[in-house]
Formats: sequence, structure tokens, C-alpha cells
Amino acid sequence: MKKLKIDLPKISKKRIALRVTAAAERAIRSGHPWIFENAIVHQSHQGKSGDLAVIFDKKRHFLAIGLYDPDSMIRVRIIHALKPATVDKHFFAEKLNTAHQRRAPLRDSAHTNGYRILHGENDGMPGLVIDRYAETLVIKLYTAAWFPHLQDIVDATEKDFSAKRIVLRLSDRVKENPHKLYDGMLLFGEKPESPIIFKENGLNFEVDPLRGQKTGFFLDQRENRARVEKLAKGKRVLNAFSYTGGFSVYAARGGAKEVVSLDASKVATEVAKRNFGLNQPASIAESCIHESVTGDAFDAMSKMKKEGRLFDMVIIDPPSFAHKKSQRDGAINAYKKLTRIGLGILAPNGILVQASCSSRVDSDLFFNAINIATQQVGRRLKEIERSSHALDHPIDFHEGEYLKCLFATVP
Ligand code: SAH
Repeated sequence: MKKLKIDLPKISKKRIALRVTAAAERAIRSGHPWIFENAIVHQSHQGKSGDLAVIFDKKRHFLAIGLYDPDSMIRVRIIHALKPATVDKHFFAEKLNTAHQRRAPLRDSAHTNGYRILHGENDGMPGLVIDRYAETLVIKLYTAAWFPHLQDIVDATEKDFSAKRIVLRLSDRVKENPHKLYDGMLLFGEKPESPIIFKENGLNFEVDPLRGQKTGFFLDQRENRARVEKLAKGKRVLNAFSYTGGFSVYAARGGAKEVVSLDASKVATEVAKRNFGLNQPASIAESCIHESVTGDAFDAMSKMKKEGRLFDMVIIDPPSFAHKKSQRDGAINAYKKLTRIGLGILAPNGILVQASCSSRVDSDLFFNAINIATQQVGRRLKEIERSSHALDHPIDFHEGEYLKCLFATVP
């Protein structure tokens, strides 16, 4: 057992009993994982973060059990519904095991050892994500309600995967806490002496799980990167919002003759260069020219247009533009703007690859926005594919759907 050397907060032995509105009851029965503060109609007593809350239906029968979070509008995150359950370390181990089974093709792959093992609400563990990078595990928490259960989660990881080190990442909301838990903390194992390298579809990537964005890499784009590889032969490719060059390296293996990685983060564009080095000459043609550009993607692409620079494939994968509903219209406008700018530097019959990771902008709105913007610049799309989530990022409830990507030829 990997005993953590930190005093984790303890939960109260007394469970909180709750009753909720009829609408919330229906939502729970249909598998929704959240109970909002304003859906609670009766509560036995005030609880602490991470306490177990039991929800009873109007006939006072058991409905669900979840983690209580007094500091969030999402007051309870449901971890089990419809039948009573004992929530202990075995319970969490079982959840993790089920999640890992779901990823069997990745877990057993000889070519990929970086993937998401557990995807929060979509694997029955709301607010908790576990990613794997070779022998390193990253536990990312989006709510303090998991703090008291952290030892159980670490123990659960041992059942079918023995990691060399476990890193803790905390979302902005829980970074400040009184428990000496911090973002980038090593829960177990030694700090890596050299960068961590993992494999994705046979390609090597450097990742910094302690300080990198999210948990260090955008594992959710693995299959879209493979799609890019298949389309890249002989092409000049621009990878805008490239982060550490994931799409770029795949394009190069696919036979692209030139790839530009463009990102606002200097750290990311430096790593993109190193990621090319990690794969040459084994899988990438040495004839592929790679250029890493640090800068604002909107400005840099507009500048390229002024210079008359053209690409045969433009990949646009920006960060989420809408974190709340009120930001939706602004996000749609930003997507349209990116389509227009991207098409300004896309050669005739070039390929546009545009992705969105904003769950607030659903796929219809997003694909529609790209279509409208394309018409605005007097071009049209011949769609190749619309893609969604990969196996290790399952969608188990409506709000869990966030990633969509369009592949289209633009005559
Ligand atoms: N396509 C990447 C993931 C992109 S995540 C991959 O496959 O790994 C979004 C990226 O956009 C981040 O790397 C972030 O640094 C970058 N970014 C955010 N705002 C930006 C801007 N205005 N211009 C350029 N890059 C930006």
C-alpha cells in the first residue's frame, strides 16, 4: 500500500440524508450525476466537503449516494444510484477496475501507453480524472470533496496498475486549500530526473505531468491526430493551437512535407521541437521541415495571410472559449473568426481540421458556425468526417459531451 505522507481531512461518520425536487429525482433515475444546491428540498444536517450524502425519494426509499460539496453549486456528485452500496476502498477499486476494463484495447496496446483511465462523471466518479503516461499516473481533482478519499483512490490504482509515481493535479477551484495539497504534488514516487516520455500510436511524446496544461497532454485528441496522419501526405500543414505538437508529429509521420506548430506558449512550442526530435528518423521522414512559432494564433495567421503564405492543411484546435452559458455567443463568433482566418491561408482543395472542446457549444452549433463562416468568405465545405469522443473519454451524460472536430476539403 502506498501510504500518503499527508494528513487528509476526515469525513464525518454520520451520513447526510437528503430529499430533492421531483425533477432532480427523475434526473438521478436517468443517470445524471449532479445535484444542484437549489434542487435540495430537505437536508438532515450541514456536512463537510467529501461527506457521504444519501438521497431518498419521495417514498423515502434509497435513491442514490454521493459526495457532498458545501462549496459548490453542484452540492452532491453522485457515485452510485438506485441500489444501496457500501462506499469504501473496495467500492472505489471496483469503479477504477471497471473503467480500466472499458479501455482494454488501450490498456493492452503495445503502441500506446498514454490514455485516460478514468473520466470523471462519465465513469461514475464525478470530479475525478486519472490519466496514465507510461509508468506515471496523474490524479486530477475538480472538487475538494475527493480530498478525504484520496488514500482510497491511490490504493485503488494499485489493484490493476502499479505506477512508479503518482502526481496530483488540482483544478483552479481547489488549488487553494488548507490541507497542504498542491497542484503538481507527488503523492508517491520520485520526481522524474528527465522528461517523461510516453507512446501514442507508436509515436514518442514528452510530457510534464507536474506543470503541463490539463494533466500534461491532450489525450482526448489521439484519434483525431491519427485521422490527420492519414490525410497529410505531401502536404504543407499548419497546426494552430498546437500545444506540444501532437498533431504536427502525426502529420509528419503521415508524410507531410512541411509542418508549422503555432502556439501562444513558449514552453509548448519548445516541447513541440523536442517531440520531433524524439521521433526522428525512426518514424518521421527527415525531409519534413518543422517550424515552431510562438505567438497569438489569430495574429500569426492573419500575418501569414498578408504575406501570402498558403497551406494544404490547416488544423485549428483552440482552448475552450465558453466556460459558462453566457459566453456561448462569444465562443461561436471566435470559432467563425478562426474559420475565416484559417481559410484565408488554405490553398484550393486544402483540408480544414477544426475542433472545439467547449461543452457549452454543442456539435450542431459548432458545425453550423464553421459552415456559415465558410460561406461568408465565398467558399464551401466538402465534409470528410465529423468526429466525437474516443474510447477513453466516454460520454455518459449530456454535459459530458464536449469534443467535436470537422474534417473537410475546401475547394
Ligand atoms: N492541439 C493540441 C491541444 C491544444 S489546447 C494538442 O493536440 O495537444 C489549446 C492550446 O492553445 C494550448 O496549448 C494553449 O497554450 C494555446 N493557446 C491559447 N490561446 C492561444 C492563442 N490566442 N494563440 C495561440 N495559442 C493559444
